This record gives sequence, structure tokens and C-alpha cells, in this order.
Amino acid sequence: MVRTVLGDIAGDVLGHTQCHEHLFIEKGTSFDCNPALYMEDEDRTVDELRAYVHAGGKSVVDAQPPFCGRMAEKLVAASMRANVHIIAATGVHKRQFYPADAPILAMTREVLAEFFVSELREGMISEKGERFGACAGIVKIAFESDGSLDDRLTDAAIDAVLETGAPLMVHTEKNCGVLPLINRAVRRGVSAERVIICHMDRTSREMDVHRAVLETGAYLDYDSIHRYKYLSDDEELDIICKMLEFDYEKQLLLSLDTTNRRLRSYGGETGLDYILTVFFPMLRLRGVTEEQLFMMSTENPAAALAFR
Ligand SMILES: [Zn+2]
Repeated sequence: MVRTVLGDIAGDVLGHTQCHEHLFIEKGTSFDCNPALYMEDEDRTVDELRAYVHAGGKSVVDAQPPFCGRMAEKLVAASMRANVHIIAATGVHKRQFYPADAPILAMTREVLAEFFVSELREGMISEKGERFGACAGIVKIAFESDGSLDDRLTDAAIDAVLETGAPLMVHTEKNCGVLPLINRAVRRGVSAERVIICHMDRTSREMDVHRAVLETGAYLDYDSIHRYKYLSDDEELDIICKMLEFDYEKQLLLSLDTTNRRLRSYGGETGLDYILTVFFPMLRLRGVTEEQLFMMSTENPAAALAFR
């Protein structure tokens, strides 16, 4: 069972799924940090999603947590209009994306955990600050740019995962302690298969580190595809093919981590359909089989995003 903004669905109807994208970000502190982090036009996002559906896309994870620009009501509207399953995030992002008075920064671990659980079970907080019916489907935490991790936020997120069985998504940075974090979650009773590690294609070039993470059983979301400021498509293909050679095909996920510079409907160049229309053919040319593509794009997301 996967929890979308329109309700729970069986994993096998999820279809092609990109597990770390951004469909909307409200104008605010994120925009002040980086003007690419601002998309709040429902019609444009729906156009983008329709092109994604046309290419074969079925589901998307919107990785923006509450109080730093998530637009829960718009996610519901876009999901209905474009006929795409959308999984929303509760949890936290890096501190720099929050206004100084964001409620999340002052909550105790207990209150935070309760808040995350309520977003997963009762409904998310809307753009107007009110709770409404649509639930979040993942809990996100983020390493800070210096590689540190806030204990209070991390423990609260793990509490919520233990309480609900939701998946845990992790934003990584260069030189952050991914393995210690996975161990910490596992020690507390979270199975490593519940953990989705994001961005390692751009935060670590050491394939031994990727392998060590995969050896725990966690998922690796390679979500910097076509982000040339980090790495080229060829470099991305090298990483994916290397991990496939080592037989980790059951633990890899593929995404774009979109911004307004990357969504075509906002004037960007890449498009949410890039993986389906351009990157899959490149993977095929490298010898990746249809079965492996299906696994990384459809089977693995269904398993990674399921509540257990
Ligand atoms: Zn992101």
C-alpha cells in the first residue's frame, strides 16, 4: 500500500515513478536561497505532468516538506487534473529553507513526531495553514550542507516512521554520514529497506560508498540525472551501470529533482519526461535491459514507497 494525496493505492498500480521531484514550491525562503526553487503555477505544473503521462509516467514523489514551500492543496488539484499519483512529503528539509519563525524549528521531538504522524494519518497542513484531508506518504530528513544532522529532527522522523510504517527519505550532502544514519535507524528498529537515500550521485563519487550503502539494504535514488552542474549524463550512466554490474538493480531509483529551471512548462530545458524520453534510450544503448528499466522505474518505487 502506497499513500498518495488522493488516498491509498496498491503498489502494483503505481507504474513508472520518479521518487524525488518538485512539482510546486511556494515563493518564500527557498526562493530567497535559490530563485530556481519556486513553482506555484497550477496550470504549468499540470501541463508538465500531462507531458510526463504522455511519455509513460504514472506517479511522482513531491519531495518538499511542510513550512518550507510545500503546496499540499495544489498537489491534490494537480493529481486530479493530470491523472497522476502524487506522493507528498512530511518531515524536514535543510534549515536554510525555513523562515526564522517556522513552527517546526521550535517544536520538541515529541510534538514533532506527533505532527509528522498526523500528517501521515489525518491529513497535511495546507498552504493556508489548516489541516485538510490529503495525507503525506513519506517522511523526509536532511543533512545540512556541512554534513551535520539535527538529532531532534532525526529522532522525531524515526519515531514517526516506527509509528506509521512510512518510508524515510534522506537528503544527503557531500561528506555526510549516510552509513551512521542508516545504522541509527536500524538500531531503533527501522529496517534499512525503509530508507531511501537521495542525491548520492552528486554527493559522492566513491563507488565503494555507494556499494556500502546498498549493502545495508537501503534504496539509492539517483536523482541528479541531467543536472549538468553536478554531473553529465555519461557520468550518471557510468554510476548506474556500475551498480547494475554489481547486481543492485533491486535497490536503485531514478529521478530528476526538478526545479523551475528544469521543468519545461516553467521555461526550463529538461522536462519531467526526460528519463522516459531521453535517458532510457541512453541506458538501453549501454546494455541495460527492459527488465532492469522496469525494476528501477516501477517495481523498486512500489516497494520503496510502501507502508509496512
Ligand atoms: Zn529535492
